[in-house]
Amino acid sequence: MLELPEIETLRRETEREVGGRKLKAITVLEDRLAAGISAADLDQVDGAKVSAIKRRRGNLVWNLDNGNRLLLDVSRGIALRRAKGDEPTAMEFTFTQGGPLRVLAGIGDPKLDLLTVAELDAKWPPTGAIDLAEQAVSWVVFARAFVGNGGPLRSLLTSPSMVESIGALYADEILWQAGLRPDRRADKLGSQELRRLYRAVAEVLHDALKAGGTTTSANGFTDLGGKAGGYQDSLEVWGRDGLPCRRCRGTVGVEKFEGKPTFRCADCQV
Ligand SMILES: [Zn+2]
Repeated sequence: MLELPEIETLRRETEREVGGRKLKAITVLEDRLAAGISAADLDQVDGAKVSAIKRRRGNLVWNLDNGNRLLLDVSRGIALRRAKGDEPTAMEFTFTQGGPLRVLAGIGDPKLDLLTVAELDAKWPPTGAIDLAEQAVSWVVFARAFVGNGGPLRSLLTSPSMVESIGALYADEILWQAGLRPDRRADKLGSQELRRLYRAVAEVLHDALKAGGTTTSANGFTDLGGKAGGYQDSLEVWGRDGLPCRRCRGTVGVEKFEGKPTFRCADCQV
């Protein structure tokens, strides 16, 4: 699953690559990737200019100057490529100028959708979640959101309405960075603990974005040039069960929290 740093990396690169260019055609070689769109619908994007690329949850949203929105769901993994190559292609975007953008076959579970602005808001309503790649959030707003919801920290961090596109990996890293247990309740934290959480969310996401995201498997995240991210080298707990904690003398362990494997150091996350 791709989380905010990877999705935002793809958004920035895609915008740099295709922003301002006119679409010539979209060729879908695997029908299931665009199950909701008819061939006639796809034809109507011909000649539309890509004015910007935004994010909505796990989707890259291509704003087209004909008023439509092209959605590419990248949340369950995708291999997007800017250059021509020999790898099997599942979907190809061509433009009136410059090279194509391709979605490689067999990696992740990308989905394409074509919506009007009203349909986009109905299908993917804005959540109002804290989105640090979009804008900085003040301590007051952050504290109010977390204390006001009062649930276990790991559930809050991974809730789509609380923090944008955070999943298991970054939630575990943020909680280690903050020195807090996954099951601590936000409304029972002291103000120093809440401040540590606030700083940890900002630092982990900032560093991961700067590193170009995290790649944890062979067919995992890659950028438009096919390059893996770099943040996997900085992971402190995720996937490190049995290894020594780098902050204390403890050992990183993995346990189930709300049915999901959760990595943490039992000695320094309290
Ligand atoms: Zn530790």
